[in-house]
Amino acid sequence: MTDDAVILIVDDEERNRRVLQVMLQAEGYVTLVAEDGRSALDVVTLHHVDLILLDVAMPGMNGYEVARILKKDQSAKQIPIIMVTAHVDRETRIAALESGVEEFLTKPVDRAELWLRVRNLLRLKEYGDLLTQYNYTLEQRVAERAADLHRFRLAMDSTADAIFLTDRATMRFVEVNATASSMFGFTREELLSMGPAELNGSSSEDLAAGFDALIGGDGRNSVVQVNVRRKDGTEFPVEVSRHARETADGWLLVGVMRDVTERVAADERLQQLAHYDPLTGLANRRLFYDSLHKTLAFAASNDVRVAVMFLDVDHFKKVNDTLGHDVGDRLLAQVADRLVNCVRTRDTAGRLGGDEFGLILAMEHDAYGAAAVANKVRAAMRPPFELDGSQVSMTVSIGITMYPDDAELPDTLVKYADTAMYGAKQSGRDTYRFFTPEMNAAVIDRLRLEQALRAAVDNSEFVLHYQPKVRTGTGRIAGLEALLRWQRPGHGLIPPNDFIPVLEETGLIREVGTWVINEACRQLAEWAACDVGAQRVAVNVSGRQFVDGDLDHDIGAALAAHGVAADCLELELTESSLMANTHRTLATLRQLKARGVRVSIDDFGTGFSSLAYLRQFPVDTLKIDIAFIRNVTTNIVDAAMTEMIIRMAHTLQMDVVAEGVETAAQLAFLSGQGCDEIQGYYFSRPLPVADLEVLLRTDAALPSSATG
Ligand code: C2E
Ligand code: MG
Ligand code: MG
Repeated sequence: MTDDAVILIVDDEERNRRVLQVMLQAEGYVTLVAEDGRSALDVVTLHHVDLILLDVAMPGMNGYEVARILKKDQSAKQIPIIMVTAHVDRETRIAALESGVEEFLTKPVDRAELWLRVRNLLRLKEYGDLLTQYNYTLEQRVAERAADLHRFRLAMDSTADAIFLTDRATMRFVEVNATASSMFGFTREELLSMGPAELNGSSSEDLAAGFDALIGGDGRNSVVQVNVRRKDGTEFPVEVSRHARETADGWLLVGVMRDVTERVAADERLQQLAHYDPLTGLANRRLFYDSLHKTLAFAASNDVRVAVMFLDVDHFKKVNDTLGHDVGDRLLAQVADRLVNCVRTRDTAGRLGGDEFGLILAMEHDAYGAAAVANKVRAAMRPPFELDGSQVSMTVSIGITMYPDDAELPDTLVKYADTAMYGAKQSGRDTYRFFTPEMNAAVIDRLRLEQALRAAVDNSEFVLHYQPKVRTGTGRIAGLEALLRWQRPGHGLIPPNDFIPVLEETGLIREVGTWVINEACRQLAEWAACDVGAQRVAVNVSGRQFVDGDLDHDIGAALAAHGVAADCLELELTESSLMANTHRTLATLRQLKARGVRVSIDDFGTGFSSLAYLRQFPVDTLKIDIAFIRNVTTNIVDAAMTEMIIRMAHTLQMDVVAEGVETAAQLAFLSGQGCDEIQGYYFSRPLPVADLEVLLRTDAALPSSATG
């Protein structure tokens, strides 16, 4: 949603407008500009605007006057305004606040600050819009649907992609946007009397089968490229991305279509340039460098790392000399085939010389990810190669260099990777080396960490600490959150952020996650059986635990094994893990809810999910992320966000917990806003079991003056 947000920049100086435009467009926002107050007001009446950046000092009408007029206007007053000013004094701020603006930025504008303010305000507006919409809902369902549809239509019509909503039951379009009409040359009414089959010439049955696969959670055909036909009969290629949505009236399929005529033509031109090595079919040296340039440019603007690998076949000369050049060529072709299977489609594999190959990999996980690919390549070379009936064993030596850590220029990177490859040869071949010693060391550390974690599972080195959650109304402990700790021999107690990502990447999280659930249930049973008494415990679960394995089964087994009631257990999952793989997640959540297990969303407000979407999930509680609570008493936007989330959650009949409450002032604000529970150092840090039991036995509570 926020991605397509339209931002109006009002400034009398061309240069200032340009700077802001560049910064905002880099984040995917659509920008409009106005060079004085009068034209800004015109733009707002004529266009849909989500947010305004407003300069203070302008000839004619100044920023304050513009803000005052907008904030009095019924249809414009909900558009958030950020005042951009060179002055930071108190008077300026007060004058700005009095004119109704939501935020300030001081010139020169800092890019990160701009993005943060813009993103927060847009989310705030989204919450506000949704809240208004929900309050409305409660009064009149029918009217809400119309409003929903209108809002949806507005959003739909402002995109450059064609959008089609198809009813699975009838296989007819039930909604299309303006771009759909212009792209195909049919009127909206004509399209609404048609179905998808009529646009791409396939049978309704085939399309229906494809849709059912999508509904069933099979994502393979969610993005496809097909040829479609306009009203005048001309054909053109489009890329369609399809999603299935369940509504009260059955399944809807949302298709978003983009005309890719130019891209297809460009692809073909590129092919014709014959940049491929005829023997192996890999990119030749020239195309390899071309891809490297492009990948580096992309990486520079998207802040990602790139690994460049240089591979050399060990003792290739021997094969050539003993078996002949033809056999040597065939060997190289087979090596290339295996190499291609080790990388993702977006990566580049190229042939750089006789028996030298190169790989360009956009990395998700730093140097360690590159080491993993190098190992994959080594493993792929292991089975003997079949050549003229005889079997030949071959290995490769690999040198790796990282952008931007080691170098930034393509030639330098390849040269460094080549140097590193010699290091691998010197170490006895069939291995990989990084260019920098630190990276070799980092990879070794990481490997040790992984091994230590594997051992930790077997040696039961994990423990759970518990942090109380307190009810603001009563000041009493209402539940506990179990937080994992690792007692690593020789290293002390390790916090979860240092090792959970590794558990997730290696898949060990399943085993550890199951241990956490079991241990929490065991502890619950122990407390219930002694003078501490029954408690409620929340356990954190990773997205990975929803995807691999059977979470519902594991939880059922743990509850049964310890004789614990399901409603004593709560699961905390993050917004992002909820959004990934929604179909599977939703099914598991429903099973868990049917058992009576409670579900809450952790770190709420930081992800990109829309609240409207969240409504589909059976969730009991929202936990507001610590990032909002930290400045809740000092930053008006964070305060407003928090307030909105609380009201929104209550409208949806969810409980709200604020995380990371450290001061009495934060607590006072939160209880004033009706936040149900708080958790944080203000009441207690996470504690080992023995310390926690002291709190529980003495029935510790917040001082009564602190609660509302
Ligand atoms: P989380 O679930 O959001 O947990 C809250 C984190 O905030 C905890 O850090 C807690 O110690 C910290 N915290 C609590 N009150 C305050 C406060 O007043 N101020 C500040 N600055 N921090 C506070 P911890 O224990 O290091 O856990 C970090 C994250 O690790 C957790 O975030 C959770 O996402 C993850 N995690 C912890 N245990 C598990 C587990 O068993 N399984 C999985 N998958 N993840 C876990
Ligand atoms: Mg948590
Ligand atoms: Mg949290």
